[in-house]
Amino acid sequence: MGTSSTVNTIKRDAGLLTMIWRGVRIRCPRCGGGKLFKSFFKLKERCPTCGYKIVREEGFWLGGYVMNVVIGEGLLAIYLLIFAARVIANPDLHIRPWLAGAIALAIIPPALFFPMSRTTWMAMDLQMHPLEPYEVAEADLALEDMKRGGS
Ligand SMILES: [Zn+2]
Repeated sequence: MGTSSTVNTIKRDAGLLTMIWRGVRIRCPRCGGGKLFKSFFKLKERCPTCGYKIVREEGFWLGGYVMNVVIGEGLLAIYLLIFAARVIANPDLHIRPWLAGAIALAIIPPALFFPMSRTTWMAMDLQMHPLEPYEVAEADLALEDMKRGGS
């Protein structure tokens, strides 16, 4: 056994673009590691690669929700503009398919973007609030625990 070599190999935090890019690819913004999700909608408590605690505080996901809503509403707004242009060009336009499209657009993209909105939000949060030294220490400890536990 002996003394465990220091687990944490992260010398300094990555820059904003690196972190965002990791987030967009649904990876840990801190270390770039994957497998952050237990299921499509459920994140693990910590990054399995670097031990970083994902939900750092109460209400952590508010920004993530806002981001997801903004993306979803943005798509819907574009859709409505296209719809308005079509209706003006053709007042007899059948409205039902458009309505179905709007409903699908309100539901499907936010669901599909969900994991990405989470990891991208994590990246933005880490940029705005870099980990405190105690959080880095906790991450190292948790990582050692995870390695010992083997899960
Ligand atoms: Zn990580």
